[in-house]
Amino acid sequence: MVAALTGFAPDDCPRLVVKIGSSLLVAEDGTVRRDWLATLVGEMAERQRAGQKIILVSSGAIAFGARLLGLEGGGRKSLDDAQAAAAAGQIALSQCWAELLGAHDLRAAQILVTLGDLEDRRRYLNAAATLDRLLRLDAVPLINENDSVATEEIRFGDNDRLAARIGQAARADGIVLLSDVAGLYSADPRRDETAELIRSVETIDARIGAMAAGASTMGSGGMASKVEAARIATAAGMPLAIISGQQDAPLTAFAESGIGTIFTAERAPSAREAWMAGRLTAAGRITIDGGAARALRDGNSLLPAGVTGLSGAFGRGDVVDIADEDGTIIARGLAEYDSEATQKIMGRKTGELEAILGYAPRPALVHRNHMVFL
Ligand code: GLU
Repeated sequence: MVAALTGFAPDDCPRLVVKIGSSLLVAEDGTVRRDWLATLVGEMAERQRAGQKIILVSSGAIAFGARLLGLEGGGRKSLDDAQAAAAAGQIALSQCWAELLGAHDLRAAQILVTLGDLEDRRRYLNAAATLDRLLRLDAVPLINENDSVATEEIRFGDNDRLAARIGQAARADGIVLLSDVAGLYSADPRRDETAELIRSVETIDARIGAMAAGASTMGSGGMASKVEAARIATAAGMPLAIISGQQDAPLTAFAESGIGTIFTAERAPSAREAWMAGRLTAAGRITIDGGAARALRDGNSLLPAGVTGLSGAFGRGDVVDIADEDGTIIARGLAEYDSEATQKIMGRKTGELEAILGYAPRPALVHRNHMVFL
């Protein structure tokens, strides 16, 4: 019933990622919210018995560790503090999950990853293989960022985007982010009484980005990182839901009420993307710098600023290869500009484009909805 309304029923996903934020695990006084956790684990166990495979992405190491080590500011005053807190807190966190799951005869299996582990193809494939093996063994993968070794520049810093990347690696069918709010609101519900819960998002555009930027939740990522996670997930064909974890048995509550924000997945991966990826020829090639390559992997569109070169003569709507600085083709997509215009705007910032082109620029050179990674 809810599935028909929203297009995403987490209970129907053979493989589901569930992410739990720090504020749901640890109460403001630093104690574990065990009673609530028990309701979540109870409903998870029921689903596992029915054959569903659940992957847990759990925050809380820093929050737990701060209490254990007596650190101020929740352990987030400096990177040093956060890394020390995470080291102490992760033990307590995994023990807590192992006990709760163990009470239902479920085995927790911990994997701590860094951003680098998932960006490097070989290590990513290793993590994916381990996840797959664990799921087949009916264990419950328990994932967190390896905060104690991740350095400032190359860390996720929030478990929302980590959950989306883990979903990709585990070939999950959907992702649920349990949050301290019911979802994405049109404005901050605490300050604006006209704020409305956005029930369904088909395209993550500037309007949605602005709503996320205006919202504030506890935890490190807030709504902006949740929307970024949705961008990564939906581009990979996985729907994502943000729902409230401030209710007992939140998955069941959502199955009954459907209250939350659903980001529907693009259908592209199976049809158009597969077609695009499978093509043997492209009309041209666009070479991009390292920053743009990273931005694409994070789920963003290709902007002219990141382009360093091009070859071939292509028209608007033609398929082009996107190559990195080493000449490796990393993606393929539909060009929004022909090669002549691309030549003029490459390397230029978005704000400069209108003056160069003489007309209002399009949002991207290759939009992420029309792009596939190879
Ligand atoms: N990895 C962090 C922790 O375990 C949490 C990151 C987040 O708040 O999303 O404490």
